[in-house]
Amino acid sequence: MERSEVVTPGPAWLHVWLEAGREGRLFTYANPQGLPLACGDLVRVRLRGRPHIGLVVEGLEQLPPELEPHRLQPVEALHQSAAVDPHWRALLAEVAEDCHTSLFKTLKTALPPGWLGQRSERRSGPSRNRWLVELLPPPPKVAAGPAPQPENDPEPAGERPPGITPRQGELLELLEQRGGRAWLSTLTGAGRFSRSVVEGLERQGRLRRRAVAEGSAEWLALGGAAPAGSQGSPRPSEPARAPNEAQRQALDRLAATPPGGALLLWGVTGSGKTEVYLQACARILAAGQSVLVLTPEIGLVPQLLDRFKARFAGAIVEYHSGLSEAQRIASWRRCLGADPLQPVVVVGTRSAVFLPLSGLGLIALDEEHDSSYKQDAPMPCYHARDVARRRAHRSGARLLLGSATPSLETWLSCQQKGAGATSLVRLSERIGQRPLPPVRVVDMRAELVEGHRRLLSRPLMERLERVRDLGEQAVVLVPRRGYSSFLSCRSCGEVVQCPHCDVALTVHRSARSGDWLRCHWCDHRQAIEERCGACGSSAFKPFGAGTQRVMEQLGIELEGLRVLRFDRDTTRSQGGHRRLLEQFAAGEADVLVGTQMLAKGMDLPGVTLAAVLAADGLLHRPDLRSSEQSLQLLLQLAGRAGRGERPGEVIVQTYCPDHPVIRHLVDGRYERFLEEELALRRQAALVPFSRAALLRLVGVSATATATAATTLAERIAPQVTAAGWQLIGPAPAPVTRVAGRSRWQLLLHGPAGSPLPLPPETVLRQGLPQGVGLAIDPDPLEL
Ligand code: ADP
Ligand code: ZN
Ligand code: ZN
Repeated sequence: MERSEVVTPGPAWLHVWLEAGREGRLFTYANPQGLPLACGDLVRVRLRGRPHIGLVVEGLEQLPPELEPHRLQPVEALHQSAAVDPHWRALLAEVAEDCHTSLFKTLKTALPPGWLGQRSERRSGPSRNRWLVELLPPPPKVAAGPAPQPENDPEPAGERPPGITPRQGELLELLEQRGGRAWLSTLTGAGRFSRSVVEGLERQGRLRRRAVAEGSAEWLALGGAAPAGSQGSPRPSEPARAPNEAQRQALDRLAATPPGGALLLWGVTGSGKTEVYLQACARILAAGQSVLVLTPEIGLVPQLLDRFKARFAGAIVEYHSGLSEAQRIASWRRCLGADPLQPVVVVGTRSAVFLPLSGLGLIALDEEHDSSYKQDAPMPCYHARDVARRRAHRSGARLLLGSATPSLETWLSCQQKGAGATSLVRLSERIGQRPLPPVRVVDMRAELVEGHRRLLSRPLMERLERVRDLGEQAVVLVPRRGYSSFLSCRSCGEVVQCPHCDVALTVHRSARSGDWLRCHWCDHRQAIEERCGACGSSAFKPFGAGTQRVMEQLGIELEGLRVLRFDRDTTRSQGGHRRLLEQFAAGEADVLVGTQMLAKGMDLPGVTLAAVLAADGLLHRPDLRSSEQSLQLLLQLAGRAGRGERPGEVIVQTYCPDHPVIRHLVDGRYERFLEEELALRRQAALVPFSRAALLRLVGVSATATATAATTLAERIAPQVTAAGWQLIGPAPAPVTRVAGRSRWQLLLHGPAGSPLPLPPETVLRQGLPQGVGLAIDPDPLEL
């Protein structure tokens, strides 16, 4: 993967993407000067006589016959080089093929989000002024009903009064996160927000636009083109620990794994997996190679980053959605600059798997079972674990997959031989021989029979009291954020629905503006109506508990208990995850109430109790992977307890204590579960013993979308059946309408390992009516 010193003449023709029209499209240009151009470079071209900056998607060796060479316009100059090597381009081509999509879409996913935005800023030319958008103070509040609120409920960043559109709400939130201001071009670049969103808010007096002269002191103070600097600070330097016997074995096994191969590090929670990544990383760096460390969740980045920074401060490169576009471009450039004298350690989320690193020695993929590694939209619908496997294979790096609850797929690959097989090494004990916490199941039916209809069962209350009195800490998982799951009319039972989606609205409670309703699918927000739309009654009742309601209840029932909330609403602002975790780790609260993100990977030594309310919300999803995913989540949650000196305990409240997932959770034998699950799937010839693919259609018009689905099914049916595959559908998606759009799907089912019996994406799209979009998911996680 050396970058060559010899300049080879570039391709004679190029596919160049230009932002022309709504979505932009690909054009073919000639390269008569033989400029050494490649995938990702930005070039200057002309379109209909006007200058443009375009993105090189690929060089062409042959011109398609329908194009006449002399009619092609030339590329004028290189504007900005991506400087990637041919291996990187080849990786993208493989991913594009795996995902049944174009190289262009894959390239767009792989490049940092600001890459194309850079482009539109340049095109506007060197103007004297730049537009700065600034938040204005909110208008005086309309009288809001008093809402009882525990003192320490952090004011949710997301709450917006009604009267603004969801997009406007998003823009306001983004501005808030950025400290109240941003360049207009940053907001509108790469199609993020249209100008009308900004103008609408301006008319409402919520923000203003102001010209700032380029080069002025203020312009410089604002960081010029680049927004503010990095967030957070690493905790004081952590010493490298002497690995224990099991960790040493794991490191030796990794060293013995052939380049390009994969090793599963199956370690129970708290067994020291992260320490293995750190030490493996040190070895690779010492050999002059770079390391890619991937984590599934933005919420896990701060802790991981701190631990890596404490050891390898100068070599760390961050790459995740918590960074600004300029910071992500800077990370990209640092990766390009990595060489044997300056190897880097990238800590990032899913899309970091595409960073252009040559001299890659190791990819460590933490929590490899986590479904957040899968991208559902936009295309390519890739799985970062699969890309990492390909990447390791291509570049001779080793792939280290870590988990306490490995995915069925990875576990199966450990049992195979030959190429694509994974070796396995275990860490079966916690550090310091600490015991795994026992699980206590509370049967909520029995609680009900005995007249206890509260959210918190008596055993949980008692245990929480002890936590408070002994100065310990607890984490409490509530599957849903907000105040309650839905709001229904006491008189007629009508549930308040989102006007744009086929789902119920969730009640959110704000200290400032009282209760109001939000859609968790499209982010629609509205005030609670005075009267029921169906029967005119004015009595509503919230059902189901969200994080806010649980907090409120804890505050009412347990005097003096200090509670913090950890969910998407409270972590949304910049550094939100870090701030809350630091507060909790510093002992500023006894209990951390949160959604799924609470269960994953955090190392909080003070926690002795992990509890889940309403486990049933996790158990009954109608999906192939529902058992696997809910057991993984519950075991992960259990893994948060008892990591420090004091032993831990787990309490699970459920109405179905006999559910297989609950039984496996109690006996803690995850491997037994995998065996049973695999046998079941083998018997029924389900994934991974077969292959499924999903075609998703989305359109504003319900009839047009349904018709398109039917037409598409008819078109592909012959090829699908001829290949021995089955076509199931078309059918409306389980939630048919989201954000005012209709969703239909076609399911394809066929033999494991066989190629998709489909024509190329561009052909599939032909004949789709205007306004109907199509996504192809070649290996969907949810069916
Ligand atoms: P995992 O990632 O498997 O959940 P961690 O790597 O977070 O586990 O380790 C759990 C705790 O044990 C951490 O606080 C870590 O610093 C500590 N630890 C890990 N390895 C060692 C070791 N060899 N000696 C002492 N402490 C260790
Ligand atoms: Zn009613
Ligand atoms: Zn909605």
